[in-house]
Amino acid sequence: AAKNSGESEFIQAVREVAEVIIPFNENHPKYKEANILERMCEPERVVIFRVPWVDDKGTFRINRAFRVQMNSAIGPYKGGLRFHPTVNLSILKFLAFEQVFKNSLTTLSMGGGKGGSDFDPKGKSDAEVMRFCQSFMTELAKHIGGFTDVPAGDIGVGGREIGYMFGQYKRLRNEFAGVLTGKGLAYGGSLIRTEATGYGVVYFANEVLKAHGQGITGKICAVSGSGNVAQYTIEKLLHLGAKPVTVSDSEGHIYDPDGIDEEKLAFIKALKNERRGRISEYAEVYKEAIFNKGITPWHAKVDLAFPCATQNELPVEDVRMLIDNGCIGVFEGANMPTTEEAIHLIREKRVMFTPGKASNAGGVATSGLEMTQNSIRIPWTREEVDSKLKEIMISIHENCEKYGRVDDTYVDYVKGANIAGYVKVADAMLAQGHV
Ligand code: NDP
Repeated sequence: AAKNSGESEFIQAVREVAEVIIPFNENHPKYKEANILERMCEPERVVIFRVPWVDDKGTFRINRAFRVQMNSAIGPYKGGLRFHPTVNLSILKFLAFEQVFKNSLTTLSMGGGKGGSDFDPKGKSDAEVMRFCQSFMTELAKHIGGFTDVPAGDIGVGGREIGYMFGQYKRLRNEFAGVLTGKGLAYGGSLIRTEATGYGVVYFANEVLKAHGQGITGKICAVSGSGNVAQYTIEKLLHLGAKPVTVSDSEGHIYDPDGIDEEKLAFIKALKNERRGRISEYAEVYKEAIFNKGITPWHAKVDLAFPCATQNELPVEDVRMLIDNGCIGVFEGANMPTTEEAIHLIREKRVMFTPGKASNAGGVATSGLEMTQNSIRIPWTREEVDSKLKEIMISIHENCEKYGRVDDTYVDYVKGANIAGYVKVADAMLAQGHV
């Protein structure tokens, strides 16, 4: 911790993993003797650079940007880019560290990385976002490549930003390469990539419920966030007959007692992806819904909770409220949305819980499938990609269950995901010597 002082999110992510891996290593001395866990906590490389750009008024602006290349033992670095004013080294190191385990779980050959900038796309024109992305890629291009590091989107980086960055990479290198995932369908993107993280979360939740003798149909669900992951979590919940009743953004949450149906979801997508408006507008259109300013969605009486916004958005007092209100499962769509204290309470109460590194791995898994399609230069159909995604989520679940089953009635997915993700990377590191 002293070496990484001030990096609270990174330390939190490492501690969660270490609590599981240190006891595991005691029974597996080959990993302990080779100091694998300690090595995994040190990024292979971090690049920090400035991004100069000019806004629409002609003012010169500067942002700070990063790429954390955490671990390449099992494949090229892979992980998203985040554009948000809160971005700093601690947050990106935590995300990159988590990504190593997550990518290992997908069964595909991908190392872990993460990057981004403290640039805030909110309130910026398309032209400003384009100039920023071009300047950002002008430096990042020196450090990435199809066999080196393949970034994707994350908070604040969607199809628009990926398009601008891909265009700039192509100009700089004069090569049409699968160097980014989450691309548009017209230029090498994969069907289902947009939906993949949210769909995957619900496929995973469904497996967990089945393993505990339950089903998803008819369950009332709280979802936080209203971005990519939240939208497609809601969509798949609707496909499987569940009833989502909340959605949120950084200003507050909507509670809709009638449930968010297909039509209301279409409204949310247009509001967030096209008009880039605030979620409070939902309650202006749908009068049965209430907008609760500055309050998390975890106050609603629900069966299942899906935190899909950002890190540490689900604190212990909210978990207590969820459990008191009868909630039986928490499935992370975001990365590390549940605080450490809250996870301890959930596990103590034996509530079903899945860490993001397992339940949100469908996004990066489908990015891996996009890389495969780019390499073989043949796009797969929607059905093909969706069925591969589903298979991957089922196999991640099996792998987590293998290491995490506590007894006949409970599986500890935190333990299961951390050990299953660790073993593959650790074995690869051992085989490659002291690297
Ligand atoms: P988006 O940018 O599409 O949406 C993010 C949502 O979270 C928005 O509703 C945003 O509200 C809200 N949010 C962001 N920061 C905060 C904050 N500090 N407080 C409250 N609300 C906030 O991002 P994604 O949906 O892509 O990502 C959401 C989460 O899922 C992140 O943790 C990401 O790392 C994780 N994830 C994403 C994957 C993907 O494929 N996209 C894959 C795996 C994980 P507002 O608009 O007001 O900022």
